Amino acid sequence: MKIRSKLAWTYIILLIIGIITISAYSILTIRSFLLDEGVEQFEKDALSLALAAGSFKDNALFDDKIQRQAQLSRYEMAVYDKSGIRFLTFPDYAFEDVAPYLEEDLLSQLEREDGDPLIRTDENPEKLIAYVDLGQSDNAAQYLRISQDKSQYYAAVASIRHIIYAGMFFSIGAVIIVSILFARYMAAPIQRLNEAALDIAKGNLDRKIDLNRNDEFGTLADSLNHMAGTLRADNEKLKRLNEKQSQFFADITHEVRNPLHTISGALEMLQLENLQPEKKKQYMVTAQKQIKRVARLFEDIKTLQRYDFDESFINRVNFDLKEVVDEVMTVYQPLAQEKGLALKAKNLKSYTVNADPDKIEQVMDNLISNAIKYTQEGKVEVGFEQKDELIEVSVKDTGPGIGKEHLERLFDRFYRTDKARSRDKGGTGLGLSVVKGILNAHQSDIKVESEEDSGSRFYFRLPLHENS
Ligand code: ADP
Repeated sequence: MKIRSKLAWTYIILLIIGIITISAYSILTIRSFLLDEGVEQFEKDALSLALAAGSFKDNALFDDKIQRQAQLSRYEMAVYDKSGIRFLTFPDYAFEDVAPYLEEDLLSQLEREDGDPLIRTDENPEKLIAYVDLGQSDNAAQYLRISQDKSQYYAAVASIRHIIYAGMFFSIGAVIIVSILFARYMAAPIQRLNEAALDIAKGNLDRKIDLNRNDEFGTLADSLNHMAGTLRADNEKLKRLNEKQSQFFADITHEVRNPLHTISGALEMLQLENLQPEKKKQYMVTAQKQIKRVARLFEDIKTLQRYDFDESFINRVNFDLKEVVDEVMTVYQPLAQEKGLALKAKNLKSYTVNADPDKIEQVMDNLISNAIKYTQEGKVEVGFEQKDELIEVSVKDTGPGIGKEHLERLFDRFYRTDKARSRDKGGTGLGLSVVKGILNAHQSDIKVESEEDSGSRFYFRLPLHENS
């Protein structure tokens, strides 16, 4: 059964029960009120009839007078003499089942009543019955019995009952219509929410539910909209990640294909029988360089991969940053000299930092090698500067600088400002992404200040160890 029908049936049944209960209660209350009123009047009438019956003279007209009075009062009436024997009734048929004399028990009860009417409820449940002792009587009559069918009192209820029934059926009709409409109103948002949820489940995340209600349904609609929004954002993220991944694999393929071509070409040349020894050496050096480049490329990819999936890749210890930086500078000193560049240190003092020394060495290696690689003349300066609790490490060069348009994507994987020039210099396009990955794993970041034709300054910060 649908929720709408369930709601409608619940309202209808509850309201019908309510209406029937109220109607029945009203009828019963009115009945008992009318009967109470009737009993009161009945007692008064019994007394006045007794008074009248006692006052009639004992002559030939006595019977007629009593009958006339009974007729006028519309009560059934019986008159008993002093010994309790009935000698007059009106109408006759009303007394067919009634004993023609008063029992001892009843007579003694009447004596106790001392002239007040005695209401008998046990004689006939469908009738109101009263006995009265006339006391001093001017005729043979001593006791009077008057009675009337209770149905007489309920006559008014019968007509009221019809009004109540009509009202009841009208209310039930109205209740059914209102319940159906109300159930529809209550169930409509559930239906819409269900349709929307199914739609969202099917992947239609652009759907927006607009219930325009301030109740729980409105809140649920907001939650569903929020859920769809989150799913939409997640989907977008996944899509972008997927695109990035595809781009990454395309880039790798591209990066590997070039050196493989070169190696294959060099190997072909080396197979020539009459190749001059200098040429032979040249091809072998070329092949070796390309093999190194591919090896470095895979090394960088492996490193990046580990940053993506292994958070414990960083192994923090306290170490002297100067020692690590000095070591890298020593390695690159000959290369700088070869290019006629000055590789200088600025303010390189001993600072203890808490980081992974091997990874920081790799960061310095990448930054210094880039600076030397892309700078044609002038100098490369490696410096420290303390900034409160942090030490800022910078690598500054007098190279070609980097255009503003490249700065945002500079640390993306395989991004190069000048592809041909970078490859010529043996670059993989992954060096700066590796630097960023390592520093991010240290809760730090790599920054760059650069403009075209005015050199570059790459810098990052590490937290100083308390005792340094
Ligand atoms: P690559 O292997 O190509 O050097 P990187 O990720 O290390 O890759 O650098 C990305 C690009 O950033 C380089 O191709 C180069 O265009 C630019 N770049 C990096 N360092 C410098 C620098 N010191 N001066 C000028 N350009 C630089």
